Amino acid sequence: MFQKILIANRGEIALRVLRACKELGIQTVVVHSTADSDAMHVRLADESVCIGPPPSRESYLNIHQIVAACEITGADAVHPGYGFLSENAKFADILAAHNITFIGPSGDHIRIMGDKIEAKRTAKRLGIPVVPGSDGAINDDKEAKRVAAEIGYPVIIKASAGGGGRGMKVARTEADLEIALQTAKSEAGAAFGDDAVYIEKFLEKPRHIEVQVFGDGAGRGVHFGERDCSLQRRHQKVWEEANSPALNAEERSRIGGICATAIADLGYSGAGTIEFLYENGEFYFIEMNTRLQVEHPVTEAITGIDLVHEQIRVASGGGLSVRQEDIKFNGHAIECRINAEDPRTFMPSPGTITHFHTPGGLGIRVDSGVYSGYRIPPYYDSLIGKLIVHGRNRVECMMRLRRALDEFVVDGIKTTLPLFRDLVGNPDIANGDYDIHWLEKYLAKGE
Ligand code: ADP
Repeated sequence: MFQKILIANRGEIALRVLRACKELGIQTVVVHSTADSDAMHVRLADESVCIGPPPSRESYLNIHQIVAACEITGADAVHPGYGFLSENAKFADILAAHNITFIGPSGDHIRIMGDKIEAKRTAKRLGIPVVPGSDGAINDDKEAKRVAAEIGYPVIIKASAGGGGRGMKVARTEADLEIALQTAKSEAGAAFGDDAVYIEKFLEKPRHIEVQVFGDGAGRGVHFGERDCSLQRRHQKVWEEANSPALNAEERSRIGGICATAIADLGYSGAGTIEFLYENGEFYFIEMNTRLQVEHPVTEAITGIDLVHEQIRVASGGGLSVRQEDIKFNGHAIECRINAEDPRTFMPSPGTITHFHTPGGLGIRVDSGVYSGYRIPPYYDSLIGKLIVHGRNRVECMMRLRRALDEFVVDGIKTTLPLFRDLVGNPDIANGDYDIHWLEKYLAKGE
């Protein structure tokens, strides 16, 4: 097992990882920018190293500084959290070259999944169902028209290097195709420095369902069930649940089994998430994230397994603590992402939190790095906390969520809490009857 882990992140996830390290008896080092000197994870860590000024590229994305912090403190492993360097293959390679363990998959696996065309090709080869579309990059209008006619309109053009929902264009008819192809290409080139694009069938009303997988790096793979993350705004997840209200136990074990086998065949090591669009009973692979996800706590709630412990065990060569048959799904869990944003316009609302009171009681978990008197720096994303609620079934979970939201107090800044208080009372949400467009439509109506 590791002696000392350096946590290369900030906010709630840095604290989340720190807690897991403490429970495993591992020393902790955190790195932070000058804007985060008074952050909770800095206060609670055994050691902390200031690695630069507020802008991320000079601190949390500064590989040299982070490697230097490892050398100075003698850390033998790095947990990257999510975002920042968590899916940076070069970072994984550089750590390996310094004999520091990256708590995550190999640089090569990160690289494959970071290139969407390559990821889709790999998924298909491993027997994962994919969205019908072009086999690789599309080079000209003629090829685009041929592929689109084959799969049928509407189609979506996506950037191979894409991320965060950028560089995607929908073409409803052949007349739209040329212009969609051109704009997708130029947007991709400008945003990612790589203008490779591909085409796939556009699904009209899918749900977003993702499978949590783990590989032990020695040819074994397991799945921890799925999460339904269909409630999104601008491709950003807002509310996540496990299990998905749309799946039954057979569907869960079928898609889970396919993913676990794929992970085993790939020789993958650590946590991963295989994301699908789900429509009319069919799964369509869209991408794989090679890291811990923001929404992992809903999976922990229904399985009772600490996924960060598992990540650390696997990275240290200790293997997974569970076999597939040990993983049971109990009850239902929902996570609400609480952002420091205006709940109507979603404009960021940094500032000082004058009062912070979190709900408690059975089945309630709050992951947050903020506290009363904390000043939210304006440089980073607006997530200030996650409320995760567990119940024996979805109805109990929703009732508990409603009362937890009533107890939650954040004063001094605007937050998205009022949005969740509205959602929890909505009949479609109560019925689990929503797709990836539901939230945008609901917000557009301004109810
Ligand atoms: P990114 O990495 O940019 O987030 P994804 O491939 O994960 O890109 O897709 C982001 C979102 O775009 C999906 O959650 C979905 O809302 C939409 N999307 C992607 N592919 C399709 C498709 N084939 N049909 C319909 N919507 C899609």
